[in-house]
Amino acid sequence: MTRADLIVTDIGELATLASGPVPRIGRAMREIGRISRAAVAVEEGRFVFVGTEAQCRREVRLRSGGSRWSAGGGTVVPGFVDPHTHLLFAGDRAAELDLKISGASYAAIARQGGGIFQTMRQTRSASTAELLQSAEARLRRMAASGTTSCEVKSGYALTPPGERRLLSLVPVLARRTGLRLVPTFLGAHAVPPEFADRPDEYVSLLIAKALPAIARNQLADFCDAFCEPGFFTVEQTERLLRAARDAGLGLKVHADEFVRSGGAALAGRLGCRSAEHLLESSEGDRRVLASAGVTAVLLPLSPFASFAHRASPGREMVDADVPVAVGTDLSPNCWVESMPLVLSHSVYSARLTPAEALTAATVNSAHAIGLAGEAGTIAVGRSADFVAFNVPSAEHIPYRFGLVPERVYRRGIRVPSAEEGVA
Ligand code: ZN
Repeated sequence: MTRADLIVTDIGELATLASGPVPRIGRAMREIGRISRAAVAVEEGRFVFVGTEAQCRREVRLRSGGSRWSAGGGTVVPGFVDPHTHLLFAGDRAAELDLKISGASYAAIARQGGGIFQTMRQTRSASTAELLQSAEARLRRMAASGTTSCEVKSGYALTPPGERRLLSLVPVLARRTGLRLVPTFLGAHAVPPEFADRPDEYVSLLIAKALPAIARNQLADFCDAFCEPGFFTVEQTERLLRAARDAGLGLKVHADEFVRSGGAALAGRLGCRSAEHLLESSEGDRRVLASAGVTAVLLPLSPFASFAHRASPGREMVDADVPVAVGTDLSPNCWVESMPLVLSHSVYSARLTPAEALTAATVNSAHAIGLAGEAGTIAVGRSADFVAFNVPSAEHIPYRFGLVPERVYRRGIRVPSAEEGVA
């Protein structure tokens, strides 16, 4: 008999996402491991039983003092893994909306010293306490909408000590919130004004002064760079990423978002863990990503936030056998905290099927940030991170816009819902 300190019963549909090699590609993205009339049991933060309710009654006993919850016939899925956030920033850019509506692009606003440079100035001058407080509030809202793990990129200080300061906040936030956070060094988010005419020197500075200390102090798991005209060229990106790899970091690249800049091809050449955005990538790029096993991290709300009127190429990527993950792109340019909203747009805009979208937001996004052994699936032995929705099947999660979870559990402990005081 298995003992448990939490048993969840009356799950109408459980999607475990637990079978098959990771990352899932092609048709395998539609296999979400459904169990009807299911139950799960948890002991000390880990699943000890996953199966049918009938089996659970036979095999599992609740410890005295343990708790039991009926999911009321609803749907339970793994805790969402958000593989792409720019969580650490000060201020906001709500005032930019009028400019964007009048036709100014992300790059044009940045050239005038606004956009990312406004956020850079506010982030540089913010106190550490302010940065922690705003990021913590965002994480708590993300958790209430079902995110249990997420990536956190630096990239709004754009100086070696400033970037190190941002990355050093990530473990503090993980301790305060309980979320599993994966830090990524994005010092090459933009060329800072001090180096406006000398981007090569800025890249050299990052390689000489930022990477060694970040690697030595284990401040980041990955290095990312913004490979776009007006930001970093393919050559500059490659130089930085090769140095990052030599320093022991995994590699990511912001690629082909505004124009087809060659970022996807570079990701294939370097064997990056992921290439992100990819709005303008070509059929040839998809072949390169597929054969190199690079995960496409798609951010289906990001083009909306930039008024780009482009859809993320989700359907095309899956059909080309590229592993696909989806995320929020949470930033002052694209303030999205809800993974259920991302799931909806993954279907309605990027044309993933609901099952593919769920795979992309859980097991494949865990792979994209190096958490495949720990997060993104519901299986015995795994961390008990799961989300319950009051809907009859997993399809309803993307089908209904703005769905809010009934309950979220992280390591077997209930996360406070939005109504219970998440600011
Ligand atoms: Zn981004």
